[in-house]
Amino acid sequence: AEQTYDVVIIGAGGAGFSAALEAKQAGASVVLLEKMPSVGGNTLISGGEMNAANTWVQEKLGIKDSVDLFAEDTLKGGDNVGDPEMVRVLAENATAAAEWLKNDIKVNFLEDNLFQFGGHSVKRALIPEGHTGAELITKLKTKLDEMKIDLKTNTKADKLLTDDSGKVVGVEATGANGNKITFHANKGVVIASGGFGSNVEMRKQYNPEFDEKYMTTDAPGSTGDGIVMAQDIGAALTNMESIQTYPVCDPVTGVISLVADSRFDGAILVNQSGKRFVEELERRDVISRAILAQEGGYAYQLWNQEIGDISKTVDVHKDEYDALVKEGVLYKADTLKEAAEFFKIDPKALQETIDRVNKFAKAGNDEDFHHRQGLHDMSKGPYYIEKAVPSVHHTMGGLVINKTTQVMNEKGEPIPGLFAAGEVTGVIHGTNRLGGNAIADAITFGRIAGQEVAK
Ligand code: ADP
Repeated sequence: AEQTYDVVIIGAGGAGFSAALEAKQAGASVVLLEKMPSVGGNTLISGGEMNAANTWVQEKLGIKDSVDLFAEDTLKGGDNVGDPEMVRVLAENATAAAEWLKNDIKVNFLEDNLFQFGGHSVKRALIPEGHTGAELITKLKTKLDEMKIDLKTNTKADKLLTDDSGKVVGVEATGANGNKITFHANKGVVIASGGFGSNVEMRKQYNPEFDEKYMTTDAPGSTGDGIVMAQDIGAALTNMESIQTYPVCDPVTGVISLVADSRFDGAILVNQSGKRFVEELERRDVISRAILAQEGGYAYQLWNQEIGDISKTVDVHKDEYDALVKEGVLYKADTLKEAAEFFKIDPKALQETIDRVNKFAKAGNDEDFHHRQGLHDMSKGPYYIEKAVPSVHHTMGGLVINKTTQVMNEKGEPIPGLFAAGEVTGVIHGTNRLGGNAIADAITFGRIAGQEVAK
């Protein structure tokens, strides 16, 4: 079968939805292809938090921030491997992207709270209602339907089609029944197919460290298809070896633990000996490495009810909480002794750790690991203790794009008719993506891609 649109978009995650809506808004006819039976990708299953500087919530909370500081944190967080000009584009446009989500897409963000993920100098991550990407994807999908944009699920893009001049003019895809469909694109194609965290072979190809020993937090559709398709027509790749693990994941399934977001409000990490071993708000790569260096390659996250009352993660992620309790990897205990004994940690050692935490909390100075927020007093129970391992979470590398999201070839020239946005691209996050920057990246550059491809 053959179908013709102005714009063909590959992948219905945060980037693909944003591109589709902007392209349609600009007057183009648009089709959005999604290989899975349902939409959302990693965006859906993420915490959904989005960084931006000088937002309405920062203003309300009296937090001083700037585009410069956001850009600086992002670059530094990735060891200055990201492209400074592109990071600048992200930092400059993320605020408008967040306002677009709020005002045009009707995403509900919490009005009185922000996250400060590791590596950020200030609290700048907007939190969607429910603390997951479901709020974003549900609203984006509603808007897509309202704007009557064609969405084809169970439709996998296999190959980019080019004309004699090398311009990208369409996509060859496979439908639900194995049927071949050719989508012609009058204006261009946007690749928004996400990363390759769920593709173990591809992980090993670019960095042998990330083999089968790691599980992944990623959606099953994150297999790097867009990277391979673009490479086949001469696209340049960058930073492919940079693969991120999320430090605190379910040791049974590898799924990210959002209940454990209590870490951003003072929960601590201890090892099997009941001792702290890293600053809990360090970068994800630093914490992950530190966890793997402990006996057994795992850690426990520990917090008390007071911290829980601030973060509310047990309430907002009730299903996850129940599942973790059922798996026996999360336990609520009235006393510290009981919490220790559940995981066969020496209760005396754990008590000594908590005594030190309480002392440092009172003094406002964590002498051991310099917790950047200051530790929280944990003398009162009940306690939550959760076993955790690092799991592959984000692939920083991918396609090289320019400021207008055109995909670049090996010679550093744009490939006509080809655009990309989101995790499939590799120029922003350097060696390490900071929390809250994936959604910012996907939405900000997804919008730019949609505007540009429709021109
Ligand atoms: P981003 O955050 O960059 O938007 P996501 O992981 O949220 O990335 O979304 C990427 C989407 O692309 C996923 O829903 C995934 O299933 C889809 N996808 C991946 N490869 C293909 C492909 N070959 N054809 C169609 N859709 C794809």
